Amino acid sequence: FAASGGALVAYADARTDPATEPSQAAPKKKVVVLGTGWAGTTFVRNVDSSLYDVQVISPRNYFAFTPLLPSVTCGTVEPRSIVEPIRKIIRKKGGEIKFWEAECFNIDPDNKKVHCRTNTGTNLERNGEFLVDYDYLVIAVGARVNTFNTPGVVQHCHFLKEVEDAQKIRKSVIDSFERAILPDLDEEERKRTLHFVIVGGGPTGVEFAAELHDFISEDLAKLYPTVCNLVKISVIEHGGHILTMFDKRISKFAEEKFRRDGIELRTGYRVVKVSDNTITMEDKLHVESSVSYGMAVWSAGVGARPIILDFMKQIAQGNRRALATDEWLRVRECDGVYAIGDCATMSQRKVMEDILEIFKFADKDNSGTLTVKEINDALEDICIRYPQVELYLKSNQMSNIVDLIKASKGDVRKESVELDIEEFKNALADVDSEVKNLPATAQVAAQQGNYLASCFNRMKHCDKKPEGPLRIRELGRHRFRPFRYKHLGQFAPLGGEQTAAQLPGDWISIGHSSQWLWYSVYASKQVSWRTRALVISDWTRRFIHGRDSSC
Ligand code: FAD
Ligand code: MG
Ligand code: MG
Ligand code: MG
Ligand code: MG
Repeated sequence: FAASGGALVAYADARTDPATEPSQAAPKKKVVVLGTGWAGTTFVRNVDSSLYDVQVISPRNYFAFTPLLPSVTCGTVEPRSIVEPIRKIIRKKGGEIKFWEAECFNIDPDNKKVHCRTNTGTNLERNGEFLVDYDYLVIAVGARVNTFNTPGVVQHCHFLKEVEDAQKIRKSVIDSFERAILPDLDEEERKRTLHFVIVGGGPTGVEFAAELHDFISEDLAKLYPTVCNLVKISVIEHGGHILTMFDKRISKFAEEKFRRDGIELRTGYRVVKVSDNTITMEDKLHVESSVSYGMAVWSAGVGARPIILDFMKQIAQGNRRALATDEWLRVRECDGVYAIGDCATMSQRKVMEDILEIFKFADKDNSGTLTVKEINDALEDICIRYPQVELYLKSNQMSNIVDLIKASKGDVRKESVELDIEEFKNALADVDSEVKNLPATAQVAAQQGNYLASCFNRMKHCDKKPEGPLRIRELGRHRFRPFRYKHLGQFAPLGGEQTAAQLPGDWISIGHSSQWLWYSVYASKQVSWRTRALVISDWTRRFIHGRDSSC
């Protein structure tokens, strides 16, 4: 942080206008934030806007609470209840933050500028394009839907990523019923119209399938009694199971529940083509088959946005799925640029790459060997820099480093162990297996936004020393610990007032009690009291009157 800060002093000075009276205080550094999703909004809500000149740029002037989007598709929750205007959020910060509703279409890291284009009309000067310069850039533009270039997907499938998508799905579900009930159709046509296909058995696809099943069985069946026995819901998943990111017990429970509910699971199938009324898929042996459908929702994965792909090319990060950052969330080799949330992946240093340095760091007496005491003294610092060490000890139920050494060296007595570099290497050989990419979730994005804001808030107090060097030797001098993700658990709503919850420490709960936990967690996570009240009243309305089926 300070490294980039130091280099920027000259830049900021050069920019002060000589005509205005020279003020005592140096001008505030400009922080430009791209995106108003989970990562960007959390950053903005937490950054100290009295320290920086903060500008937020996003084509969307609101924050959307995405975990409730599947509920919007069936009218369980109204779209208005899950969005919060970004201007309201920044007004709470005392009005020092500016917001521009525009899309950034090019990042110019050499001149520290971003090129933007408004999406509010075309008869503007210079096509509505403008330039914004920055000292620090926080990229939080999220990801886009990935169709894997499957033909026909963009034309014929719905996505479930934005609030508008959820609204379109809701309309389309109800339209399907209205169409299927029309007088002149034959049975086959009615069946086809009421065949709902979901591509992708991840959390979003599964939750949508469950919501749709509830909507149909609890509300629509009463209103369309003549056609409700023709409805079919199918989930097509490429992998062997649905919800593979969850514990096996949860994915098994979900599969069984779906079968009982009559939701067809087609695991092991890859969709290869979509036309206006058939979906063609391929099994593992490349045998093709096809089904006719009425409505399809594609939720099979996310990919990088074009602006991120362009930027990665510019900074020689081509051929990646997301922008690579270090553990301080700084974009590699790019001064003053940070990336958080779904558009980025944090690459963690491997212990084995730095093993010599770690060894030297721990070997305080320069004896060329490490005693248990030396290792233990250095362990805390090592774990801060390389969280995988701690994770490894935990997941192998080892209480300390001695256990690890014992496991590698066989029989050793506690105090007399001394390790040379080779033995030290052996002991730590497997710890890097705990390095995992963070998932593309709101939880990760929000924690990164929060972490980065706290770094920015303390940046001023930091000395001129480079922060976050990649060397363990300099650990003691870090002001900021590297970002560390804390997994708080994960829910999978499965319909029928049942939810599967997987909480830290391998704690699993499935059923009605976790549904109540889900309600309370999602109510408490709302960004404002207004949306919280709206969401709770939507849930109450649904309990009493059912979902609305008009559109
Ligand atoms: P986003 O929230 O997608 O925000 C990106 C922002 O950048 C948007 O404001 C967008 O308008 C803006 N933007 C886009 N392009 C540009 C540009 N060129 N210039 C400027 N701004 C731009 N996660 C969970 O942890 N739990 C859940 O239960 C959960 N459920 C989900 C359900 C659904 C239906 C979906 C779609 C996602 C769900 N997620 C969930 C994932 C979660 O929503 C994402 O991981 C999270 O939104 C990522 O945050 P982000 O800020 O990186 O991106
Ligand atoms: Mg964001
Ligand atoms: Mg979001
Ligand atoms: Mg990420
Ligand atoms: Mg020694």
